[in-house]
Amino acid sequence: MSENSLLDHALVRLDEAARHLNIDSDVIEKLKYARETTKVRLMIRMDDGSRKSFLAWRCRYDDTRGPTKGGIRFHPASTAEEVETLAFWMTFKCAVMNLPYGGGKGAVQVDPRKLSKAELERLSRAYIQAFARIIGPDRDIPAPDVYTNAMIMGWMADEYAQIVGETVPAVITGKPIALGGSLGRGDATARGGYYLVRDLADELGLGGNMRVAVQGFGNAGQYIAQLLAADGHRIVAVSDSSGAVIAEDGLDLAALLAAKARGKSVLDTVGHAGHQALDSDALVGVDCDLLVPAALENMIHEGNAGSIKAGVVLELANGPVTAEADALLEARKVVVLPDILANAGGVTVSYFEWVQNKQGFYWPLEEIHERLRTIMVREGRAISNVARAKGVSMRTAAYVHALSRLAEAIEAHGTQSFFTT
Ligand code: GLU
Repeated sequence: MSENSLLDHALVRLDEAARHLNIDSDVIEKLKYARETTKVRLMIRMDDGSRKSFLAWRCRYDDTRGPTKGGIRFHPASTAEEVETLAFWMTFKCAVMNLPYGGGKGAVQVDPRKLSKAELERLSRAYIQAFARIIGPDRDIPAPDVYTNAMIMGWMADEYAQIVGETVPAVITGKPIALGGSLGRGDATARGGYYLVRDLADELGLGGNMRVAVQGFGNAGQYIAQLLAADGHRIVAVSDSSGAVIAEDGLDLAALLAAKARGKSVLDTVGHAGHQALDSDALVGVDCDLLVPAALENMIHEGNAGSIKAGVVLELANGPVTAEADALLEARKVVVLPDILANAGGVTVSYFEWVQNKQGFYWPLEEIHERLRTIMVREGRAISNVARAKGVSMRTAAYVHALSRLAEAIEAHGTQSFFTT
């Protein structure tokens, strides 16, 4: 056991996948530990003139398949353990999609909602000052994650350019379009999941007019609700960090989006168009066909997995279902479309952004969508075939699929040197 119990839980999936592949034990040994995690304390000036410090990390988990790639999270509950676990998932996510990247992740332990815009900018710039020697367009490429967005990526790219003395747009993805961002990055996480569900709908037994419940109404949650509603599906319940709302005949999405745009909770719509308040804990047990966890880790666990009525769970969050809950859901024949596939649309369009930055040539939106759809469908079907051939869950199949690519790369690097950049 390592000192990181969150990572130990994540590694259960690696062990499970390894049992279905004939691979060298060296490969597993390499993938069990993060290669480097740097911790710093960022000090910034607050608007009232005081100084405040925040813990921050950047983890480069594994760079065998290419430069490490992964978002930066701003969250009060972030820890080194969480960052390493998220970076482990990025390693497998990039391998699932066959992107030429390893896995990384970063975080600042902060509640960004308590900072002014100027304080947030100072904190974002301080992060890059601290990690400028670690990141780089061919070394480690950050992106948005929970509570970070295009505006923050823009400040970060600008800070990096000032430090190195030239514009290097490919050092960070998820930037504003005006600073070399890609069309289609904003809704990419949700759109990837949407293409996956649409392609596998028949085999998953999902028809038209689905009832959908969405846990978490941030970037991924808001966009998946809109994409599915546009196809005629009904969004019956959504939640955010303040609470949840339900409407049997379908929620008024425009009202929910307007509340969020005003900085309010989804609870602000209670009483409007039949919206009723719902206990947040009850959301996973809502009567629906598709449940979309789009918030944080470990939201579906032993204690509530038994209440799930949906036949399919689309993991737009990272790590929303615990390993214990996986076993319960599998026994009940609930299909989980796993995070490392289901939410990989975000990093895939990040990859497109990086390619466009390196070429200095920008693609139209239709091209982004079509390329994303092609990759989601290709890898989704490949994983579904592995699941069927080996008689395993989609999660195990996704890990098997990624692990065989990682093993091939680890072996190709040779057995006598350990590739490090
Ligand atoms: N933070 C996102 C994820 O967890 C995106 C990472 C990226 O675009 O590099 O997949």
